[in-house]
Amino acid sequence: MKDVNCIFCKIANGEIPSATLYEDEDFRVILDLGPASKGHALILPKEHFANVFEMPEELAAKAFVLAKRMAAKMKDALDCDGMNILQNNGTAAGQTVFHFHMHLIPRYDNDQVGLTWIPGSLSEEMKEEILSKLAG
Ligand code: AMP
Ligand code: ZN
Repeated sequence: MKDVNCIFCKIANGEIPSATLYEDEDFRVILDLGPASKGHALILPKEHFANVFEMPEELAAKAFVLAKRMAAKMKDALDCDGMNILQNNGTAAGQTVFHFHMHLIPRYDNDQVGLTWIPGSLSEEMKEEILSKLAG
């Protein structure tokens, strides 16, 4: 299904032109218009899913296989030193376009891309609470 108001639906399906690196029946990979680094790309499914929670498992699996292939190709072509593969879900997580997408962010030694956080600590209480909710 497509969402008529969604810009990534239009880009993924070729209704709006984009700098396309790769395309198949399920996905289009484009250059991000506000790149964090040289070569920053986005994997867009052609079907509309707002986020990972809505995405069918089979398509999510395909998306990661494609991310791996694209990352390898980009590393060779761009000669980057590393690669961040990341994906935001929900405003709280930094998502700004509500059509599932994966970021491929080439990293270069000493670049200025900031994806870090201040590490907290895992208390016994917190650990037990989370394990009781999630483990098993
Ligand atoms: P996120 O914050 O994870 O939702 O990421 C949205 C990304 O989409 C940002 O990196 C934007 O620079 C990028 N973006 C937004 N609109 C466009 C567009 N029309 N073409 C290419 N990239 C876009
Ligand atoms: Zn969409």
